[in-house]
Amino acid sequence: MNTEFNLNELKAAERLPSPSGTALAIMQLVQQHDATVQQVSQLVKVDPALSGRILRFANSAALGARRPIADIESAVMMMGMQTVRNFALSLSLIGSNSKGHCPAFDYETYWSRSLAMSVAIAAITAREVTVVPAESFTLGLLSDIGSLALATAWSEIYGECLEAAEGKQLLALERERFAIDHNDLTLMLLADWGFPPIFLDALKLSFEMKVAGLSRIDQFARQLIFARLLGNYCMADEAYRAVLLPYLTDEAGLHALDESALLTFIDEIIELWQEWGKLIDVKTDARQPMLKAVDTVEPGLLGLNLLLVDDDPMMLARLSKQLAAEGNQVAVCRNGESALKHVIERRPQLLITDWRMKPMDGLSLCKALRTSTFGKNIYIIMLTSTEDEDALVEAFDAGIDDYVTKPISLRVLLARIRAGQRIIMLQNELEKESRDIQRYTAELAAANRRLKSIANTDVLTGLPNRRYALNRLEQEAAAALRSNQPLSVLMLDLDHFKAVNDTLGHDVGDQVLTHAANLMRTTARTNDIVCRLGGEEFLVIAPNTDGGTAMLLAERIRRSIEKNQLHGFVLRQPITVSIGVAGAMGAKPGWKELMKWADDALYLIKQGNRNSVRLASSP
Ligand code: GH3
Ligand code: MG
Ligand code: MG
Repeated sequence: MNTEFNLNELKAAERLPSPSGTALAIMQLVQQHDATVQQVSQLVKVDPALSGRILRFANSAALGARRPIADIESAVMMMGMQTVRNFALSLSLIGSNSKGHCPAFDYETYWSRSLAMSVAIAAITAREVTVVPAESFTLGLLSDIGSLALATAWSEIYGECLEAAEGKQLLALERERFAIDHNDLTLMLLADWGFPPIFLDALKLSFEMKVAGLSRIDQFARQLIFARLLGNYCMADEAYRAVLLPYLTDEAGLHALDESALLTFIDEIIELWQEWGKLIDVKTDARQPMLKAVDTVEPGLLGLNLLLVDDDPMMLARLSKQLAAEGNQVAVCRNGESALKHVIERRPQLLITDWRMKPMDGLSLCKALRTSTFGKNIYIIMLTSTEDEDALVEAFDAGIDDYVTKPISLRVLLARIRAGQRIIMLQNELEKESRDIQRYTAELAAANRRLKSIANTDVLTGLPNRRYALNRLEQEAAAALRSNQPLSVLMLDLDHFKAVNDTLGHDVGDQVLTHAANLMRTTARTNDIVCRLGGEEFLVIAPNTDGGTAMLLAERIRRSIEKNQLHGFVLRQPITVSIGVAGAMGAKPGWKELMKWADDALYLIKQGNRNSVRLASSP
């Protein structure tokens, strides 16, 4: 329908869920930087229902309350203004959206599930702190607000979508119809309401189920996935709960909860959920059977990118339909060659292949994949008509990960696929981790390079500093000796520089220094190394240059400084420079002596008229 989604258009048309009354006033107030706790408290008190709920919120042990709180000011102080703001926002949305016009959208169930998720994420973040539990609570309440928004903005069409699509297909259908899906719309709305980026990043990861790292955002995303599962569990009827429990147990393992601790945790959450439901008028007694609840993602039920290879077209048709119905993306190939091509081009995560095919059979396909870089990691399940030991050993040797015997039981095949999926997820995590490590190492190296360059650079002029100059001179001297090349140094000192500082001030002095440094840099040749030793003293290292040539260079620099005076200041006398030059050939003199010679020559100039160059004569 749309080619591009535009949030502002929808907002302008007032077709989105939006805060009203007190909540709006609080949101506007908190937006101002100078809002005070007193002002926020005053607004809260205008709304008695909100006041009561905020007190209850602040006193909720599950959200980390430590002492009883009896007045609104303390509650606002304890919760923080942002949390009060978001809490008021959620409540106002619940209040104005408990009913609606989208026929297929169950508004009560929607809020009930959101509240369950909300209580769950608060309880989880209270156990393992990643973000403040009170803040995660309000995020939980709005963590699927995009669904409500679609139902509000396009009630008729969205109703049709909900009826037409089930499970993962819904997202695709939404994108087709509205140019956005409910997950992306959720993120967009929360961003618009000013939720912090860390919340949005984590929520996005949790939608995509792509959580592998160890950062705080990754951890919070894991918690959100766990909370969503717990929320679904709260909503599920007994039969569906039994299906969900194994997934929950898996997920709970990642949060240091063993099975019995998990059951206690679930009981606590259900109790809190019901309590909160009474408090904010959200129903908590509806129970969903499996089918109605599949539009929320469970980790184990999340689809894979599958390739099915079989030369029997009937078998291909039947299996691919069944696997696609489970939410997988299924591609099919009729033989080994085309499968190989498909793997190279499309990189499926899991391959299910028949054994007997012509011309390339399943076994050769496995071998070919395992010896290639692109097929090394793909998970392979072989369909066999035999359980003959020798044959199976041969198949495992060829590189299969698992097998299923014919006639194929769909239940068994799905169970094997789930087992494969766990391996695939682990593998993804490992790959992500190693990518992270590579990235950190690169970042560290870059940081070290920056540190090193800071340590070697003079801040005022950007030239290499004394420390660098001495190291470099030592290296150049060694290199010159090795290659039997001459090496010269120029020792430069601005004349009567103190007078500049004294008459025009230190700032102008700095500008003069920078100007002179730039002239030296541009006048010197590419291979010369111009450094600032300190104050108004500079050193030029001139590799592969004898004393006579170095004198020419020195004279060029001297003249350049004399001719290019800095404009805009009236100096008593122009800026000039005196330069002592010394050259070395072979082992004599060493680099320290070389500097000393140049310095002596400079000293001699300073005894006279300055503004000139002088070559050191060996003593
Ligand atoms: P001479 O011709 O004998 O070299 O005289 P001079 O005044 O240049 O030499 P002197 O060594 O007596 O004074 C150098 C002055 O440079 C002293 C100090 O105030 C100034 N100076 C040193 N470092 C800086 C700096 O980073 N910025 C500025 N503005 N002045 C500096
Ligand atoms: Mg000087
Ligand atoms: Mg000096």
